[in-house]
Amino acid sequence: MIQDPTRHPEASAAVDLAALRADFPALDQRVHGRPLVYLDNAATALKPNVVIEAVTQSLARDCANIHRAVHTLSARATEQYEGSRETVRRFFGVRETAEVIFVRGATEGINLVAHSWGREHVGRGDEVLITGLEHHSNIVPWQHLCDSVGATLKIVPVQDDGDVSLDAFSRALSARTRLVAVTQASNALGTILPVEQIVRLAHEGGAAVLVDGAQGAPHLGTDVQRLGCDFYVASAHKLYGPTGVGVLLGRRERLEEMSPYQTGGDMIRSVTFEKTLYAELPHCFEAGTPNIAGVVGFGAALRYLEAIGFDVLGRHEQELLGYGTQLLRGMRGVRLIGTAPRKIGVLSFLVDGIHPHDLGTMLDTEGVAIRTGHHCAQPLMERFGVPATARVSLGLYNTRDELSAFARALVKAQEFFGR
Ligand code: PMP
Repeated sequence: MIQDPTRHPEASAAVDLAALRADFPALDQRVHGRPLVYLDNAATALKPNVVIEAVTQSLARDCANIHRAVHTLSARATEQYEGSRETVRRFFGVRETAEVIFVRGATEGINLVAHSWGREHVGRGDEVLITGLEHHSNIVPWQHLCDSVGATLKIVPVQDDGDVSLDAFSRALSARTRLVAVTQASNALGTILPVEQIVRLAHEGGAAVLVDGAQGAPHLGTDVQRLGCDFYVASAHKLYGPTGVGVLLGRRERLEEMSPYQTGGDMIRSVTFEKTLYAELPHCFEAGTPNIAGVVGFGAALRYLEAIGFDVLGRHEQELLGYGTQLLRGMRGVRLIGTAPRKIGVLSFLVDGIHPHDLGTMLDTEGVAIRTGHHCAQPLMERFGVPATARVSLGLYNTRDELSAFARALVKAQEFFGR
């Protein structure tokens, strides 16, 4: 049997998996009588104690609204909320905290840009360029925008291995391209896109670029200044933080040319019935009482990841990805979809004669949690001629032993279905 890396001298030198796993209380449970093997990290990642404690502290002790009151609890809550903004700034290499806008998640960040920037800068006959790999969250807002203003949504095709070439990208760019919206990494196939080069090409043609970092941020150390993009979005819950919170990172020049997305309290400088003056960045894009405890937990999650470091985390995940790929390639009747040379820890696959949903249900009875379905990427599924796939997605706490347990459960499912 393949050993757990906690018992591998080489691997344990890189990451102390046993200690790390002890940080995640959800891992310490049985599902249908079996130890939980959680391989659905691309959907949402489990939460470490530091995040749970930060959220609890925010709700239990520092419970007040932010920015408004002079009392101590409000001052504490404000300090923590704004402290998380500084953590986000540092984590993503953002120039200034004014460029960090808290939103509900990647989806809301994209919608904000589509509504505020899009409606003012994309017009009739213009083009918005996305790739065939995108999550519905990075398709539908642009489709909706294009329909509303009379622009065209153009798609860069996906190759058979699940990659997108820079050549195809260059060919799809045109003088009418106003905005390019691309994922940093595909949630369905794992493909990592050459975002830095894409940004350079788009900027040469005069287009702005939004990077959907929902899947890239948890796996790749991201410096938005190095990427050079105009907008970047991410969701806290995929970064081991709480649900219902995320960020839009925007270059000041772009944010300053946008109208507010939502209006109301907390985003104003002064209000009369005749005229409202809006607050400065970033507050003008944060109307209403935000998810304070969520933002505080988000900050704790990013500090947790910083302490581990993306070099260590990346090496561990790549090693696991290699092992998982090798396991699946060695199994009869299994077809991997998405074999691009650069991938995050995502393995999308089909098993002959077993519908992905049946497979997912069978694996659950063995305690193994995987995702099955279209992964909110229906056009991509159509590109590969399948309605759904089964997907293993790795997180920082996964082990070789867990992948071996997954493979054993898969063989058992094949036997059950007589395959
Ligand atoms: N983009 C990608 C690539 C994703 O994987 C996801 C979530 N699955 C999203 C966007 C949307 O993220 P959220 O639901 O957290 O807004």
